[in-house]
Amino acid sequence: MHETEPGIVVALRGRLFEVSATDGSRMLCEVRQKVKTDACNTTPVAAGDDVVFCRTDDSRGVIEEVRPRRSAFFRPMVGLEHNQQVIAANLDQLAVVASVVSPPLKPGFIDRCIVAAYRGSLSPLIVINKIDLSPADGFDEFVDTYHRIGFTILKVSAETGDGVDTLRSRLASHRTIFVGHSGVGKSTLLNRLIPGLNIKTREVSAYSNKGKHTTTSVEFYELPSGGFAVDSPGLKLLGLWEVSRSELADYYPEFERLRNQCRFKPCSHTHEPGCAVQSAVADGTVSRLRYDNYRAIYGSLPGR
Ligand code: GDP
Ligand code: ZN
Repeated sequence: MHETEPGIVVALRGRLFEVSATDGSRMLCEVRQKVKTDACNTTPVAAGDDVVFCRTDDSRGVIEEVRPRRSAFFRPMVGLEHNQQVIAANLDQLAVVASVVSPPLKPGFIDRCIVAAYRGSLSPLIVINKIDLSPADGFDEFVDTYHRIGFTILKVSAETGDGVDTLRSRLASHRTIFVGHSGVGKSTLLNRLIPGLNIKTREVSAYSNKGKHTTTSVEFYELPSGGFAVDSPGLKLLGLWEVSRSELADYYPEFERLRNQCRFKPCSHTHEPGCAVQSAVADGTVSRLRYDNYRAIYGSLPGR
């Protein structure tokens, strides 16, 4: 029996897994049959898993054990919607990347991502790229709104490098998943954060997005400052399928202190008289933008 050592699964390569070892080497690993049979879910090994493996030669190895996951990002399996596929394990932060303009800023999308982040026990981080371009009216107010609620909202330019150092320090020692519409500059940002990375062009990833999404895989990029960043073209499909209407308000931190003051309990904060959230919107203590997005998301969720 060879000696075992710890590693992190950074990517799926066909039927094999690429594992980053503590000495920095990358090993292409098979999975011991026992690991598959013992697994109590549909994804015995996923990108992001902390594993124990042993080397079989300089570049090959076998995964002997998967450590318990601290978190997992799921996606319903295509054609088998009741089965959940783990697409990334052990993430702790979700960076929603948007751009100031082209494509235009969509606060509704940002709020959905924030909800998804909380639902998945990830800390949300808002990254607004392309600040070298002129923003639309109301941009400063938008940033201020999120800032006041307590979110971390960073203004950056992947093109000029503005704000990228601050972003880099927010990513250090975290495992962060990047989500955002295509064209906002995720690849450009990651290429700047990780010199020599050279993620493929937008044209290519946009094209592959049109595929059937059956092979969605994620890749963990090791950051020079420590930590990992995950880019995931297929994940923009990620909905809020596991969030129910009744829990949505839990993912709005600015509603927290108001919740107990509503006349009705539970209160959906959409139409009830004596609703503290609606009064707070009326008097300006809760952002109208955030509240409108809440209602839109609420309306899109299944009732039960
Ligand atoms: P992705 O689809 O999110 O990965 O976006 P890309 O990284 O492919 O970038 C889409 C386009 O936006 C490319 O033409 C980039 O050159 C451009 N871009 C990316 N970051 C910036 C930025 O900070 N400022 C400006 N002006 N353009 C940017
Ligand atoms: Zn209410």
